[in-house]
This record gives sequence, structure tokens and C-alpha cells, in this order.
Amino acid sequence: MSVFVDDLFPCDDGTGVPPPAERPIPWPILVVDDDEQVHAMTRLLLKDFDFDGRDFEMLSAHSAAQARAILAGRPDIPVVLLDVVMETPDAGLKLVHHIRRELGNRHIRIILRTGQPGQAPEREVVVAYDINDYRAKNDLTSDRLFTSLVSALRGWRDLTTIECLNRSLEARVAERTAELARRQAVAEEQTRFVENLVELMPSPVWYQEAGGTYRICNRAFRALFGGGMAAEGADPPALGALAPPVAGEEPIPAVETAVMDADGQVREVLVMRKALAGPSGGTVGVVGIAMDITERRRMERELHRLAITDPLSGTFNRRHLLDRVDAALRDMEAGGRPFCLVMLDIDHFKRINDAHGHAAGDEAIRTSVAEIRRHLRASDSVGRIGGEEFAILLPDTTLDAAAGIAERLRVGLAAAAVPLPQGHSLGLTASFGITQARGALDTMEAVLHRADQALYRAKALGRNRIELG
Ligand code: GH3
Ligand code: MG
Ligand code: MG
Repeated sequence: MSVFVDDLFPCDDGTGVPPPAERPIPWPILVVDDDEQVHAMTRLLLKDFDFDGRDFEMLSAHSAAQARAILAGRPDIPVVLLDVVMETPDAGLKLVHHIRRELGNRHIRIILRTGQPGQAPEREVVVAYDINDYRAKNDLTSDRLFTSLVSALRGWRDLTTIECLNRSLEARVAERTAELARRQAVAEEQTRFVENLVELMPSPVWYQEAGGTYRICNRAFRALFGGGMAAEGADPPALGALAPPVAGEEPIPAVETAVMDADGQVREVLVMRKALAGPSGGTVGVVGIAMDITERRRMERELHRLAITDPLSGTFNRRHLLDRVDAALRDMEAGGRPFCLVMLDIDHFKRINDAHGHAAGDEAIRTSVAEIRRHLRASDSVGRIGGEEFAILLPDTTLDAAAGIAERLRVGLAAAAVPLPQGHSLGLTASFGITQARGALDTMEAVLHRADQALYRAKALGRNRIELG
């Protein structure tokens, strides 16, 4: 059986002093002696004394066995006055052993009283049996007994107080340790969450230390930059070539660059990086995220291409061709070289449609475009500006040179064969009107009008010919 200090002494205020009661509980003092006279004498001696406002309550045991029974039910007894020789010569010492070892009661103060001075325990026995005081029975006057008891009670109270404080301290330490463990578990869980989230992210993310080492790289990073990294943790060239980000820069700049991925494919990426400042203000590292915009850019280019292209002929559409003419005019205004505009229209196209069907007409348009392209430079632009009418922008070209090009187109178209079903084919011709831009005061309307007028003349003069406007 173990005795806990709370059973002995309530310590809710931490001082070991019990809360005030109407009638203070007396100090229970256990007197163990086989001589009834000793009990009577002790009661008499202490009758008029009290300590700390509390009387003494004498509990009498006439043998060690009786004492054991009382102690078993009274863990609150602070002092025992103990005879040595009772039912056996060492019954008192055995009781001490029982109290300390078996009951585990380290607080109770034990005062040995013996009537046989010759049988006083030697010093080793006092130490070995954890006895707190030793008195001869005849040595105890009422004052001495009282002094001895008060000293024992103080010792008991100090011990229980210390034990109380220790226990509350231990409880607080345990509470704090549990709280720290709980916080650490939460922190570890958060770390695991972030690590897994970063790893799962479809975009490459990384953290690069100021020294250059890549501390954190997720799966997407390794897949995108893995091919370009000279060594594990080394700077991928595409990122190394970018200017380092500046701490505190707002808004965070997005930089476009191209990288070679782990499969050797060139990818377009949008890179955003943020420099992290340390406590002293200097940059301690850089966090970054890259978005693979290859597909987005491809789609944007495709959308743009569709927006400026005529679907049937594959040439520029009317709006874009005119935009280019406008740009060429502004370029000339700014001192650029003069350009020429060729307007061409397939002759009697209606007849082709009527004789061979609309599909044959479409094929005639495509054949014509293929023929036109054969004679143009990379810098020339051709656009379909009407059903079977095209405009060709020839930058940095004299009227003579444009006429030469148009002549080659005229001859080429007249010789071209538009494939028809069943191996048949048909021929066609076209008429041309050409004009050259005339300096800074020329306008789009005027240029188009002159080319149109020249084309109209070519038609009027018999078709399959070129007129200058
Ligand atoms: P001209 O020699 O005076 O230019 O005579 P034309 O028959 O070529 O000219 P016109 O303007 O009278 O007729 C043009 C025809 O082209 C009318 C129209 O049905 C046809 N057309 C316009 N766009 C397309 C097209 O995308 N496909 C086909 N197959 N025909 C078209
Ligand atoms: Mg026509
Ligand atoms: Mg026409």
C-alpha cells in the first residue's frame, strides 16, 4: 500500500495549511506501547497542550499488531510515539520497517520511547530504520514531550508541504511537456502536409538558398528542369540566366523564358520568384514557381493565325492584309522605302462556278494562290480581299519591279491547270491593277482606289492583262 500525500494533508492552496474549519481537527498522535500506564501518562501530559490551534488526539495501540491495524486506516497520522519491546523484543523496530517499507509512508515522524535504557537502538539502527527521534520514557516531562512532538509535527508538515509543491510542479512539468509534444505533433503534421502538397503541385516550385543550392524541388520541377540541370541541386541554365529577384519587389515580376525539359523538348515557361529577406534584411533565399505556358502560347498563336487567315485560300484575310498596308504606309511616313500594291481578280470566275460547280471554283482559288506564292518573296504578303480577288503587298518595290512580278504571275496563272475530277483540268487567267504608294501624304483609301481603278481598266481592256494606276 502506498500513501499519497494528498490523503495525508490537503494542499489545495499549495502551502500545506488546511483550510480553516469551525473546530480545527486535532493532530492524531499514535501511541504504541504495551504498558497502559504509558498511554495514560501521555494523555495526561498532553491534555492541556495544543499546537497551531489544534489539540492532540491520542490514538492508543497496545501492540505492534494493533498499531498496524490503526495505521492501515489512518494515513493522516503525523507522529507515532513508539515503544521498542512489546510482544517481541524488536516488535517496535519491525513496526518501523512496516511503516516505511510496506506502507511506503515516508512522512510520518517516528519517536522511539523505550523504558529499558540498556536496550536503546544503536546509531546504525536509527539510521537503518529511519527513526526521527529517540527518547527514554522517563526523560519525557510534559514540556519535553510537547517540544519533541512539535518538532516532529513541524518536520511532518514541512515534508508534506515540499511533497505537495513537488507534485504540483511535476504536474505542471508534465502538462507543459504534453503541450509541447502536442504542438510538435501539429507542427510535424503541418510540415508533412506542406511537403506533400508541394510535391503534388503540377507546377514546378522550388526554394533556392542564397548560396545557390536548390533546397526544395518538387516532382514537376525535376520533370521540367531535370534535363537542363548539370548536377543534382545545380542551377538549371534557364533559371540561372534570369536576373536575380530583388527582396521586397512588388508586384512580383513574371518572366518568360524557354527551357529544355527532361525529354529534350523546348518548353515555354512563365517564372515568378520572390526573394526572402532574413532577419538582417539580406536575401536568404528565393522561392519560385514556373508555369508551363507552352500549350497556352501555342493556342494563342493558333488563334491569332486563325484570326488573320482566310480559311479557303490560306492567305491573309482582308482585314489583316489591309492592316499590313496601313503599317507599310506608316513605315513610309517614318522614312521607309515605297511599296507597291497589286490587285488581281480571276477572269470570268462565275463561268468556272457555273460550268464545273462551286467545288471546282474553290479549287481554282487554291490553285491560283499556290501559283501566286511561287513568285513571291518571304517579305511579300498576299490576302484574299474578295471572292476571287487578291491583293499583294510588295514592300520596298518600284513600280517597274512590281509590273515584272505581276507579269510573271499573269503568265504563271494562265499556264496553271486547276485539277478537276476524273483527271480533267481547266485553265484560267487573271487581270491585274498595280499602284505604288506615293510618299507621306498617300492614304489607304487612295492606294486601294488606284489599284482598283487599274484593275477595272485591265478588265475593260480585255482581261488577262496588267494596268498601272
Ligand atoms: P470578271 O472577269 O469580270 O471578274 O468576272 P467574274 O465572273 O470573275 O466576276 P463576278 O464578280 O461576276 O463573279 C464572281 C463570282 O465568284 C461570283 C461568286 O459566286 C463567286 N465566288 C465568290 N466567292 C467564291 C468562293 O469562295 N468560291 C467559289 N467557288 N465561288 C465564289
Ligand atoms: Mg472575277
Ligand atoms: Mg470579282
